[in-house]
Amino acid sequence: MTDTFRADPCSICAEPVERHTESYCNGCGRLFHLNQREDLPGRDCGTVSLSEAHLALEFLCNACLEAAPAASPTLDAVLDLSEAAQAAGMSEPELAQAAAAGSVPHRRTAGGSLLFEREAIEGLLRARGRA
Ligand SMILES: [Zn+2]
Ligand SMILES: [Zn+2]
Repeated sequence: MTDTFRADPCSICAEPVERHTESYCNGCGRLFHLNQREDLPGRDCGTVSLSEAHLALEFLCNACLEAAPAASPTLDAVLDLSEAAQAAGMSEPELAQAAAAGSVPHRRTAGGSLLFEREAIEGLLRARGRA
């Protein structure tokens, strides 16, 4: 080991990055730790995953992971009765009836409103598609 590898600090934890943990984030371009050697100990301050869209490895530091929860769409995961009925292509009374009959997983709030998970509605659509 006679080379002069400069140990720049990780943008996440500020510790020096070793050669085998040197990774650059595809989100912010900063240096972070990601152990790329299974046979050597190393710190992980982010992740790497295979992008199906680009068929390339995507490096993401922890800061970008936390800033971009785009991978887990929780925003529209829960629907109220009218949204769910629209998504299911049913009328609100039809869907409420299906929920009451137990054929659609749902939750009832303290105020009596029905809430549906988008997944449950999609499952309903798939089940109807098969029928
Ligand atoms: Zn680090
Ligand atoms: Zn980043």
